[in-house]
Amino acid sequence: MLTKVIEQANIDHFIKWFDRAEKMVIVSHISPDGDAIGSSLGLWHFLESQGKTAHVIVPNAFPDFLKWMPGSKDILQYDRYRDFANKLIAEADVICCLDFNVIQRIDAMGKAVLESPARKILIDHHLHPGDFCRIIISHPNISSTSELVFRLICRMGYFNDITKEGAECIYTGMMTDTGGFTFNSNNREIYFIISELLSKGIDKDAIYRNVYNTYSESRLRLMGHVLTQMKVYPEYRAAMISLTVKEQSRFNYIRGDSEGFVNIPLSIKNVVFSCFLREDTERPMIKISLRSVGSFPCNQVAAEFFHGGGHLNASGGEFYGTMEEAKALFEKALEKYKPLLNAKG
Ligand code: 5GP
Ligand code: MN
Repeated sequence: MLTKVIEQANIDHFIKWFDRAEKMVIVSHISPDGDAIGSSLGLWHFLESQGKTAHVIVPNAFPDFLKWMPGSKDILQYDRYRDFANKLIAEADVICCLDFNVIQRIDAMGKAVLESPARKILIDHHLHPGDFCRIIISHPNISSTSELVFRLICRMGYFNDITKEGAECIYTGMMTDTGGFTFNSNNREIYFIISELLSKGIDKDAIYRNVYNTYSESRLRLMGHVLTQMKVYPEYRAAMISLTVKEQSRFNYIRGDSEGFVNIPLSIKNVVFSCFLREDTERPMIKISLRSVGSFPCNQVAAEFFHGGGHLNASGGEFYGTMEEAKALFEKALEKYKPLLNAKG
């Protein structure tokens, strides 16, 4: 049995909207990850099973290693089909906002969503949800939005209507937001849910291979290069890796090729904090990814130094300047957080 995580009033309220809605739109955050796509498609399969006209819209492209997911070919990219997406958003009865907390996270789509007369529901697990939705289902202690989607569907009374395809998507989101159940994954109910998803006929081993073992040769070589250049700071129990535009072109970089790199330095003994700096090819900025293990709050570093935020153990931000300046700023952050980095726990 699952604990009732989502408040009953929110479930009741959503059921009222849901029963009357015909057109539903699901939106998720920029540079969608496994949980953004997994939760969106998990909900989409359910809506389809109930005869709704539903569309998933995301701000921009998502990585190739998620393109095997059932329904992914029907996902609409806002940066490519803006007019059609605007029409769907404007005409929707209900808009479901998944896996993001503030409207800025959906980039240019935000304006259309704010202006739409649709009823809006937020389903998310990031801290500090904004107030752009009437129903707010926000649970930062739950490790993925996909898990929340599963819980929502079950609490609405539709577990039996979850299809194998829907279960595959939900599982993918749960798996990717916990690094294959290696962090944020001590809640025993996660494994009860996995068991329920397995009852739908999913092949979790195949899903793992589809997501993680589909490297291109150039991605693997890029990984080797990045790790050779890695800087380790034993006195701060930290490590930093980086990737310039020049290096990206040398290794035929395509979007998603550096997905997961930031986690690798955490496999070094005694390293509890990892930083990955990647020069953006489209905008003059450096994307920062931060990861930590244990109680070190990498979201504090993201907020204080890189205009960002996120979770305790996984956060990110941006830096406007050169790679050298970004590295220097990261080293400044290390100095400031030295006592916390060396604290036990
Ligand atoms: P990633 O390193 O995978 O890009 O991001 C990890 C997490 O950090 C995301 O799930 C999100 O919560 C947070 N995050 C990443 N980039 C930003 C950013 O620019 N601003 C904020 N507020 N959060 C971010
Ligand atoms: Mn997520």
